[in-house]
Amino acid sequence: NEEATAKKIKMPDLKTTITIEDATEEERNNFEDHKKSLPIFAVKQKLIKRMKEENRLVVIGETGSGKTTQIPQYIYNDILNGKGKIAITQPRRVAAISVAERVALEMNTPIGNEVGYCVRFEESFSPATKILYMTDGMLMRHATLNRLLTQYSYIIIDEAHERTVHTDVLLSIIKKAQKERQKRHIEDLKIIIMSATMDVGKLSEYFDKCPILYIEGRLHPISIKFTEDKIDDYLFACLTTVMQIHSKAPPQHDVLVFLTGQDEIENFVRSLRQMGKNCKTDIDLTVLPMYAALPFALQKRVFEDTPKNTRKVIVATNIAETSITISGIKYVVDSGMVKAKLHKPSSGLDILTVVRISQSQAWQRSGRAGRQSAGTCYRVYDKNTFDLMPANSIPEILRCNIASVTLQLLSLGIKNTLTFDFVDKPSEESLNSAVDQLSWLQAIEKDKGNELHLTEIGKRMAAFPLDPRLGRVLLAAEKNGCLEEILTVVSMLSADSVMLISADQREKAEAVRRKFQSVEGDHITLLNVYKSYKGSKKNKVWCKENFINHRNMKIVIQIRKQLRKICIDQNMTIKSCGEDRSLVRKSLVHGLFMNAAQLHSDGLYSTIMDRKMVNIHPSSVLFRSKPGYVIYSELVQTNKCYIRDLSLIDPQWLFEISPEFVSKRLIRQ
Ligand code: ADP
Ligand code: MG
Repeated sequence: NEEATAKKIKMPDLKTTITIEDATEEERNNFEDHKKSLPIFAVKQKLIKRMKEENRLVVIGETGSGKTTQIPQYIYNDILNGKGKIAITQPRRVAAISVAERVALEMNTPIGNEVGYCVRFEESFSPATKILYMTDGMLMRHATLNRLLTQYSYIIIDEAHERTVHTDVLLSIIKKAQKERQKRHIEDLKIIIMSATMDVGKLSEYFDKCPILYIEGRLHPISIKFTEDKIDDYLFACLTTVMQIHSKAPPQHDVLVFLTGQDEIENFVRSLRQMGKNCKTDIDLTVLPMYAALPFALQKRVFEDTPKNTRKVIVATNIAETSITISGIKYVVDSGMVKAKLHKPSSGLDILTVVRISQSQAWQRSGRAGRQSAGTCYRVYDKNTFDLMPANSIPEILRCNIASVTLQLLSLGIKNTLTFDFVDKPSEESLNSAVDQLSWLQAIEKDKGNELHLTEIGKRMAAFPLDPRLGRVLLAAEKNGCLEEILTVVSMLSADSVMLISADQREKAEAVRRKFQSVEGDHITLLNVYKSYKGSKKNKVWCKENFINHRNMKIVIQIRKQLRKICIDQNMTIKSCGEDRSLVRKSLVHGLFMNAAQLHSDGLYSTIMDRKMVNIHPSSVLFRSKPGYVIYSELVQTNKCYIRDLSLIDPQWLFEISPEFVSKRLIRQ
């Protein structure tokens, strides 16, 4: 069965490094041919000329044309000649790491030397590193330490079309750094913005109408098919579409399906494998998932060739839209949906929810079908639905909670976010709500001139690469003498879930894990899991027996180590509270009091922030006990609204910790 095969695949160590030693002789020679075969190679000399001349440049090129892997190498070999460093940012951790490894391989050097990467909680670089791939969030952190980013000669903002919050803020920061460096006669900062989509007019405009270069791709004709009628159940429609393709198309004509998230994809993969077995055709079906949280070894499988008489079906999130390229795709099945963060300024909360994609995303998805030859894209929605989609996606900064960004902007010395030079300015409501949230957390103050600045607490919070609420929790924990425990809880919350989801052994998994459960809630339960894991000497077999994800556990250890180091650097006292777990929960309230909810007689909870009616998620240990007051780490909206990762709290704590916030909102019962 597939579950078993999936588990048999050897998981890599956290820091998987592929070096040239792993490549065969043939592969080494192939890199030169490969590089020459990319569309970007045709314009190499022109590109180099423009990159030398211009200080600001926007480069557009179809996914797979060679922007991410080749442009830094061109700069390194043909422009800088060993002098100066190149930073290149990616919105996703996985992309930063895998591209860095790929480029190191192409350059025949071990990762961490000339080519390195640096993402939150994981890095591999050295003083010799000249090409550094990193997440956009990481470069933003570098800017807080060195506002002019003088360590870099070239900064490349990749996948700019995704317009993540960090990308947007970075664009502002580097624009400012470039001007400032010019003014002070420091070596010029060269800026390159790369995008896979055409709608870059705004970015060029923002950089004083800088030139736009277009790398012509090699896209083959793609035929687009819509459904006749409006579709209610897109998952079912996608399943039947794939099966129809499978029953007709020749082998090796691979399929890429776009869905929204991990759980949905895993379920879909399971159903499809089952249907593949029952199907009459003699072509084998290889179904593979692809999403950011998937272990690295499993991600790599989507790039591998399949045997002759098979068809590969890859079921992916929007990660396969532009940041990775899979060869051999003939058919794209587009659900028309994506999971996106939405923010409600009134509640100060981000919710993760499934929404329609934009037309520009739909075209990107279709494009994946025509990389090597003509292809077909099945849009599992009708033409009318397509016409109603927004032309372009709304930049994330206009959609989600910007408290964390506001905190970082303030620590970069920006006094007024309302007048900051954003590419797209968030609404005043949303900017003010971020300021309110930081004020409630005691991170900022207004001086007499109405300018904002960080308090001592705020400065210390800004040192942590965490949501400001969790940063605040760490500071409270130091005071309460339970920083050891809170470091664990916060690390567990920052990694992907350590609880293995097993469809066929769910009951067994639940029974085995019952010993970790705490009546105090999920946060304390996570603490218990961590303690047992440490007690087992971080044993892999122990993880297997207890249905705990070993890889994610190792990531937790890594995160904890780094957070602990920041605490030590800040001279914080790291103590344990022993068995008194109420101190842990109380510390959590210091950051999460805005995420408190109160039980009503009908068994539903209402959030105290905005009286939204919510349910406890079935995965919570408090699902059945339903205590009167809880705090939660996450609000998820699917068909219902759920709160997850909860702790039982004493309502009195809310009044002690933030009386002004709570008194107006809590209904006394
Ligand atoms: P772009 O950034 O324009 O989308 P890339 O530079 O990422 O293009 O990729 C160019 C080509 O390099 C891809 O079409 C693919 O053939 C190859 N490539 C990139 N990353 C990898 C990888 N991790 N493994 C194998 N091939 C890769
Ligand atoms: Mg790219």
